[in-house]
Amino acid sequence: MSIEKMTTTELLSLNKFNVDEEEAHIILDKNICAKCDDKPCLYVCPALLYKLDKDGNISFDYAGCLECGTCRLVCKAKGITKWVYPRGTFGVSFRYG
Ligand code: SF4
Repeated sequence: MSIEKMTTTELLSLNKFNVDEEEAHIILDKNICAKCDDKPCLYVCPALLYKLDKDGNISFDYAGCLECGTCRLVCKAKGITKWVYPRGTFGVSFRYG
């Protein structure tokens, strides 16, 4: 299939991830997130890693992160208490650019 005809989900599935299971590169304080009315992270993450659970709380898993940094920029409530790039050899390897 040509790349022009692929969906966003299909394109994302081409990426390879070496997830650092011992050290999260993004950490949230969910007590702060619970008080954030806007929760912009739900709408900006290109990998759709931020979700609401059945109780309305933020659910997040750093596996699959594209390391774009957008969530860090829009989190005005400072619920993201740690955002660094993954340690060497870990993280995303982009395919097709
Ligand atoms: S850095 Fe980008 S891809 Fe990773 S969680 Fe934040 S918004 Fe999503």
